[in-house]
Parts: sequence; structure tokens; C-alpha cells
Amino acid sequence: MKAIRIEKNGGPEVMNLAELPVPEAAAGQALVRIEAAGVNFIDVYQRTGLYPVQLPYVLGLEGSGTVEKTGPGVETLQAGDRVAWSGAPGTYAEYAAVPADRLVKIPEKIDFPEAAAAMLQGMTAHYLAVDTYPIRSGDTVLIHAAAGGVGQLLVQVARRRGARVLATVSTEAKAELARKAGADEVILYSREDFEQRVKSLTGGAGVDAVYDSVGQTTFLKSLACLKPRGMLVSFGQSSGKVTNFDPAMLGSGGSLYLTRPSLFHYIADRQSLERRASEVLDWIAGGELVLHIGQRLPLRDAAEAHRRLEARKTTGKVLLIP
Ligand code: NDP
Repeated sequence: MKAIRIEKNGGPEVMNLAELPVPEAAAGQALVRIEAAGVNFIDVYQRTGLYPVQLPYVLGLEGSGTVEKTGPGVETLQAGDRVAWSGAPGTYAEYAAVPADRLVKIPEKIDFPEAAAAMLQGMTAHYLAVDTYPIRSGDTVLIHAAAGGVGQLLVQVARRRGARVLATVSTEAKAELARKAGADEVILYSREDFEQRVKSLTGGAGVDAVYDSVGQTTFLKSLACLKPRGMLVSFGQSSGKVTNFDPAMLGSGGSLYLTRPSLFHYIADRQSLERRASEVLDWIAGGELVLHIGQRLPLRDAAEAHRRLEARKTTGKVLLIP
């Protein structure tokens, strides 16, 4: 089978299209023929070595496809089932052996590209707004990179929960997408000081929560945008790692809260995975959460997908089609 493998960490040039044996479904696993693989920023961190992985490594943590075979001990699935998952490696490929307890069945109304686009970024938007900082009606929140994969979904979920949403993006075209997703106010943080804009849009009060996936370039100003006892949800570092932080800043900023959550702790057991995935997939099937698949590339162009993602040239979801 074809797969995108890295033998060392580095830039997109380390991503090789390799010919590998189709994996075996071991005990507790299902062999899935992949129809769509999701590209996520975490794949970039694994490629560069920011998040260490054992090499050689087939990139990709998310996908959808059809079960071909099940390994010993798998009773909940059978050949022909349509499934999707996130958090199991090896999905930039034609086949993957995935732990059966990480697979969810795809409802009929949802196609393979939609399912692959929903799992990692959809469940992230869900846990951030529902559990990490549970948005209450009447809250004001700030969401960075609002035209991105997680961003467009998080704006929609925040609006569903009754928040006033302030959003940042880098270009006019992205501003249009953030507005379409439901943002009340869009700030071009590439041109204007978002902290000042947030202060003026909130009459000096600040926001209840900031969802910050950008990291290095936004972190300190995000803290400064909070109301006393507000929460900074720092959930990514697209612009680089945050290094200049002293916990005393939380005190002087107004007894603030800081959390650094990860999806994998919010879907760690089967029950929480099923609950979260089914809620997200139901919202999509019912038209309450709208996916924006901004780009679909053939599997062999995975390196180009990474180049675009890192150059801020993508919007919504990026998919690879084997
Ligand atoms: P996005 O589609 O959001 O792409 C990243 C976006 O970040 C860009 O489009 C860009 O938007 C913005 N950005 C700002 N500065 C930079 C920079 N220097 N380089 C690149 N991008 C920059 O990606 P994803 O939706 O896949 O992921 C978004 C973030 O969420 C990532 O940081 C990811 O790690 C994190 N994440 C965290 C999870 C968790 O559980 N903790 C789970 C899923 C994702 P603009 O041009 O508008 O600035």
C-alpha cells in the first residue's frame, strides 16, 4: 500500500511516499481501507519533532473508511462497517490497523470526507466549549484563528451556546469565513492590535474566556484580554511554543485561570469518545454544525498540504484522499 512516512524529523521534504505492506489487524484492532485522511496541525508538530514520535513513522492521526477485517477479540465491528476515528497513528495511507475501541460508526447521512473532517477538529471544538471552559449564554469569548479547522467549528459551537463571539484572523478572505461561521466581531490581528480592539469592543471589561491555538505570538495579549477570573484556554501553538510565562501574571492579571488541554484526555475512555463523537456527528447530520472542507489533496501531495497549512494558506479542513 501507499503511505506517507518520515524517517527523520524536519520540513515537509522529509515526507516520502513509501510502498509498505498492508498492516495486519492484531487482537483488538480492525483493518480499515481509508477513504479520507484528516490533516491536522498536530501532524506538523510530529513531523518537526516538537511532539516526539518513534521513527520511522507513518503520519496522520485521523481518518474514515471501511472495515476490511477484524482482529481476534473484536465483536462490535464487522467487515463493511463505515467507521471514523482520531488519535490512532498511520492514517496518511491506504490502510490502517486501528484499535477497535477508537472507532465510531458513521451515521448514514454523513459521507467519508465529512466524517474524517469531523473527528479531531469537531470533537476539539466540542470539548473546549462544553467542558474546558463551559460557555454560558451571555458570555463573551475570543477565538483566535477563527477561519481554521478548529476555529470555524469552535465559533459555531460557541454561538450555539449563546456566546458573543469575537474572532481573530489574518486576512479579509478569512474574515468572511469567520463571519459566515457566526462570529459577531472579526479582528484582523495581522493589522491591528487585538488586545486594544477587544478592550474597545467590551467597553474595557474584557472577555470571559480566550481560546488560543496560536501560542507564541498571541499568548500574553490573550491573557490581557481577560476579565478578572477569566480563563485562558491555551490549546495549541501554530506560531511556536509559549516560553515567556510566569504564573504570577495570573495574579496580577486578575486571578486568572490558565489551562492547556488536549483532546486525547477528553476522549480517553470509550464512553466519553462515544458521547462526544455522536453529539458532533448528530449536529452535522442535522445541519446544526457546518463543516468547511477547504481543500482535498491526493495522498501523494501530503507535503504540499503541510506547506500550505504552515504558510497559513488553508481554511477549514484539509483532507488527503488515498
Ligand atoms: P488551523 O486550520 O487553525 O491552521 C492554523 C492557523 O493558525 C492558520 O491558518 C493561521 O490562521 C493561524 N496561525 C497564526 N499564526 C500562525 C503561524 N505563525 N503559522 C501557522 N499558522 C498560524 O489548524 P488546526 O485547526 O489543525 O489546528 C489549530 C490549532 O489547534 C493548532 O495549534 C493545533 O495544534 C490545535 N489543536 C489542539 C488540540 C487540542 O486538543 N489541544 C486539538 C486540535 C487542534 P490565520 O492566518 O487566520 O492567523
